[in-house]
Amino acid sequence: TSENTLPGTAELAERARRALAACGAAGYEGSGPNALSARSPITGQDLFTVAGGTGSDAHEAIAAAGAAFPAWRDTPAPVRGALVKRLGELLTEHKQDLADLVTIEAGKIGSEALGEVQEMIDICDLAVGMSRQLEGRTLASERPGHKLLETWHPLGVVGVISAFNFPVAVWAWNTAVALVCGDTVVWKPSELTPLTALASTALLERAIADTGAPEGVHRLVLGGADAAAPLVDSPDVPLVSATGSERMGREIAPRIAARFGRAILELGGNNAAIVTPSADLDLAARGIVFSAAGTAGQRCTTMRRLIVHEDVADELVARLAKVYTGLNIGDPFSEETLVGPLVGERAHAAMRTALERAVADGGEVVAGGGRRLAGAAQDAYYVEPAIVRMPGQTDVVKEETFAPILYVLTYRAFDEALALHNDVPQGLSSSVFTTDQREADRFTASAGSDCGIANVNIGTSGAEIGGAFGGEKTTGGGRESGSDAWRGYMRRATNTVNYSTELPLAQGVNFG
Ligand code: NAD
Repeated sequence: TSENTLPGTAELAERARRALAACGAAGYEGSGPNALSARSPITGQDLFTVAGGTGSDAHEAIAAAGAAFPAWRDTPAPVRGALVKRLGELLTEHKQDLADLVTIEAGKIGSEALGEVQEMIDICDLAVGMSRQLEGRTLASERPGHKLLETWHPLGVVGVISAFNFPVAVWAWNTAVALVCGDTVVWKPSELTPLTALASTALLERAIADTGAPEGVHRLVLGGADAAAPLVDSPDVPLVSATGSERMGREIAPRIAARFGRAILELGGNNAAIVTPSADLDLAARGIVFSAAGTAGQRCTTMRRLIVHEDVADELVARLAKVYTGLNIGDPFSEETLVGPLVGERAHAAMRTALERAVADGGEVVAGGGRRLAGAAQDAYYVEPAIVRMPGQTDVVKEETFAPILYVLTYRAFDEALALHNDVPQGLSSSVFTTDQREADRFTASAGSDCGIANVNIGTSGAEIGGAFGGEKTTGGGRESGSDAWRGYMRRATNTVNYSTELPLAQGVNFG
């Protein structure tokens, strides 16, 4: 079973090469000073070496995307939508290939990897629709014979920096929308996931060729933080959309601001659910387990804190602990598996340290926390998702540890639960489990959850693309995906048009 056996690294490498070839990626294996190792967390070993990009490659990419911009800006938006429509078709055709690569590089289980690609397809659909709906407003002018309009224009080159844990969906959220908005894109994916990036880029390049779009509307730059530096610092990149850790955001945000660039920041979360005495505990337990243990705790929206009313805490924790004991942990390609590997050794060390700190703070580990399959693959890090009951919200609970640890806190009054909920630096996702309408409405009101995502009776993770996605405080304030998030990828102009023969001034000013 998946508990004991793992695929071999050679087998994974072959599977990756097959998927890449099916998507049309070729010539990517190579050595050289900037080469990257393609690695799989399934075995923790390198698959093969990919030729890397450098800072100067990013300069070239910015120049090429900049050169393609004027023609792309002049292309009617619904024609730009045709490119994204073709991309969506190719993603549908190659859904399984791309999902295989997501599993190989990010360690996601099959259904979550397919879900990630489905999210790419969904955002393409949404963006194609948007391409006919990039609407501005007409506003009431205070002057006779005048009209006041708002028009939206393409921005230019958008730099996309993405994280390992959603190696392709985050690119699609940004790229599908940026392309219909008339922008061109330079993408620097996580250095941990070059293969998914190569495959999706190959599919987009095919869509570009099929629809006759300018070849430079998209460029891929491979490498680590250094490779992304020109995207952060170049005045030729008016918008940087960056997804990753708070540490990364703190490094790049001041640099982008220093050149008056715009940033969409999607940084870490420390997402909580409040469970009230009236909650449907069956439903809550299912929602909590998916959000807290799913994706091995490696989603930005992973549930990391549970704030439970003291009357139901013991029962809920006992139920969760029981489910946790039965979670199948192992090979993400096995259909029985629910929890795949952590991305690597650093994530495992961070989990160990956090658990030690929690215990030192008086926490009690009531489920999980151990390592699995070290015998089968010593360089892979499979862990049992952990539940830790905490006496209070200590420092470790206020940090995002990118691993499956669920801290449980208890409360007596709903006000106290809300205060605990909001008393962390991050503000991404949140939920309340309750059947009391007052509590539900208080949670989603202004004085309730301070997060960008506030749910009722579902977990914190697994957002739909139709809404705007993002969070407040150290999560960075960015919004992506649906609703009117497209406005972040365009520039707004206010037009006052005088169709009279007079020249009245605003505010009644008289000038000569
Ligand atoms: P990370 O910060 O290590 O890396 C993210 C990306 O930033 C990578 O491409 C990396 O190369 C790049 N980067 C890092 N430092 C940089 C610098 N100084 N200049 C330019 N680029 C730099 O994050 P990770 O480990 O890949 O991803 C996990 C983190 O991402 C978690 O904190 C998670 O919450 C967050 N995340 C947030 C969202 C969201 O939408 N809010 C979504 C997914 C992941």
